[in-house]
Amino acid sequence: MTVSAGIQAATFIHAGNVFTGTSKTLQQEVTIVVDGNKISSVQRGYKEPGQGDTVIDLKHATVMPGLMDMHVHLSMQHGGPQTYLDRFSLNEADYALRAANYARITLDAGFTTVRNLGDGFYETVALRNAISNGYATGPRIYTVGKSIATTGGHADPSNGISHQLRPDVGPEQGVVNGEVEAREAVRSRYQDGADLIKITATGGVLSVAKSGQNPQFMTDELEAIVDTAKDYGMTVAVHAHGREGMKRAIEAGVDSIEHGTYMDDEIRDLMKKNGTYYVPTILAGKFVADKAKIDGYFPALVRPKAAAIGPLIQNTFAQAYEAGVKIAFGTDSGVSAHGDNAQEFSLMVEAGMTPEDALLSATVNSANLLGISDILGTLEQGKLADIVAVSGNPLEDISLMESISFVMKDGVIYKQQ
Ligand SMILES: [Zn+2]
Repeated sequence: MTVSAGIQAATFIHAGNVFTGTSKTLQQEVTIVVDGNKISSVQRGYKEPGQGDTVIDLKHATVMPGLMDMHVHLSMQHGGPQTYLDRFSLNEADYALRAANYARITLDAGFTTVRNLGDGFYETVALRNAISNGYATGPRIYTVGKSIATTGGHADPSNGISHQLRPDVGPEQGVVNGEVEAREAVRSRYQDGADLIKITATGGVLSVAKSGQNPQFMTDELEAIVDTAKDYGMTVAVHAHGREGMKRAIEAGVDSIEHGTYMDDEIRDLMKKNGTYYVPTILAGKFVADKAKIDGYFPALVRPKAAAIGPLIQNTFAQAYEAGVKIAFGTDSGVSAHGDNAQEFSLMVEAGMTPEDALLSATVNSANLLGISDILGTLEQGKLADIVAVSGNPLEDISLMESISFVMKDGVIYKQQ
């Protein structure tokens, strides 16, 4: 909106408490001035706006940088046994439209940036572009497109399908064997518009396959993926439960370990030495552990994996935090319901993390993992105006994070209650 003389009107946010992310303490009575899509200043006291400027009263709220979830799957949401039949009836457009719906719900929960760690048909590349061009509403998306597995591995889309119906899968569909195909899969993702790479270095819980933790990539394949990704300016996120698969991946130079269930002292030391991030997804662990108690919810091959692995992740997280491993916030939403992302904060604090560190994991640390600390992650002059708020003080009650009342992304207000 412009006023006379062509001067852009500014938005003055009067914030009772601010967690800027530049320190662990709250500042009281602060004015954040937003000009266009950027923060033009963060000042002490409630500053009076100029003519034509807008004031937003958040004097009873705590204002924070937009939240970031480093592990979501926007194009699906687990809904019991039916979920395993979806792939026989849904088309690419069905997934794309579901993703658009879940993206809006995610933004509404205060998550202004997400990493999408696996879709089916690059529908989240299309969604990312649609959101940035104004055709859809949702968080800023960094997506891997279709994740990369080995034959029969976690995320091989042909798992659990009869020979007659089994689709032909190769590097483009995310199934590789050997260095040559590993390189081809990374380059194919670059060609299709992925922002980063995701691989499944060990078995997983929800795939129709026996092991939830065996290593599924050889060292030569891992090195081929990491080296090729670096050539194209992409980072590598790694799904891993078992320790051998984690060890190989960390030594190959990957950027983050997701879930990390059977992490031990040696793995924690390796991660600290290499600066590897841990993205815990405690919420997904709790979700699958709960659902494993229900007869028929999961296929027979999946149920015991969910019951064994699910309950362990919160303790793995507690040990990693205690050991000083770098932690970025991630939920695996799409396993649990989209929009419930902030429940992860309570699970982190319950496991011993301070509320301040929990907020930093979803802001500063996540921006660092994404390599975008220059534009996002804190409330500072010159950064993009991704700003959220809750009534009350989440450092005293972290569950308040589940009731986000104000959402601004890129200077545009999407929620104001
Ligand atoms: Zn996942």
